[in-house]
Amino acid sequence: MKCPFCQYEDTQVLDTRISEEGDSIRRRRRCIACDKRFTTYERIELAMPVIVKKNGSRTEFDPKKLQGSLQLALRKRPVSAEAVDAAIHRIEQKLLSSGQREVVSGQIGELVMNELQKLDKIAYIRFASVYKSFEDVAEFQDAIAEIGREKKTIKSKS
Ligand SMILES: [Zn+2]
Repeated sequence: MKCPFCQYEDTQVLDTRISEEGDSIRRRRRCIACDKRFTTYERIELAMPVIVKKNGSRTEFDPKKLQGSLQLALRKRPVSAEAVDAAIHRIEQKLLSSGQREVVSGQIGELVMNELQKLDKIAYIRFASVYKSFEDVAEFQDAIAEIGREKKTIKSKS
């Protein structure tokens, strides 16, 4: 660490303390050239990656938008608000822990679909049909076929 007073390249650490919250480290330093003292803080940097849209433009991650699209897909479906919040939290955690500075919007779409698939099949189809905009018809048909199969298994069981 450079000395802020004389720009000397090296400093000596006199004291290291972890903050009460445990989320930062404070170091007391002394410049070995001019003997002046200063403090540095070390913090964890966790930032949401920037979203890269299909047209190449960048936008900030918006949790309200994410919530909005999940709620739209889940409209009138028997899924609790807690379950939706938990799904949103998991998506955010995945984005944070990816450590990427940028993610393509499709990646978020995939994360949303993963969560919806677990929450509610109908909501999953709704979202997939809008999100994929029928670009990938085969995949959409697979999803519908999957629901068809599940209904059949339920019927055959009863
Ligand atoms: Zn100095």
